[in-house]
Amino acid sequence: MSKPKIRIYGAMPIEMRRHFRDAIEYFARELMSKQLAKNLNIQLRYKRELDSGALGQCDVLTDNTKPRHFRITICPKSDTRIGRQDIFKTLAHEMVHVKQFAQRELKFRVRSLEKMTWKGKQVNESKVAYEKLPWEKEAFGKEEILFIDYVFYSESEDYFFG
Ligand SMILES: [Zn+2]
Repeated sequence: MSKPKIRIYGAMPIEMRRHFRDAIEYFARELMSKQLAKNLNIQLRYKRELDSGALGQCDVLTDNTKPRHFRITICPKSDTRIGRQDIFKTLAHEMVHVKQFAQRELKFRVRSLEKMTWKGKQVNESKVAYEKLPWEKEAFGKEEILFIDYVFYSESEDYFFG
């Protein structure tokens, strides 16, 4: 089976848990080769609040030279349908970052969060506006279409838009 290994943590309705699993598999398949997707190990944490106040976060858990183990944290702002759209768009966004790390497009340089390498070029995060960072541009550019594709693929228009 060419599926990533997925673990989901946090209290949530069963339907949402199922969508998290299905959506992670779907986004991995859309963004990466089968070979890469099946070797991923993804922990998803669903929790009330991120310290940074952000909706989502993607952490590389092990082995920076060949990253395959990731933790995505999703922090819902509300449980309405709009809230669900935001949650799953955020998941799509964070999965783009998983792809960037796993394909080595995005790398940490010398363990410093402020010194990243994007496709071989150093980028100082503190000197570039967040939304202009190349990895964020890609993630924001893809989150909407990935999310919409997933809604139709999973035939869950009612759940997200009903
Ligand atoms: Zn991002």
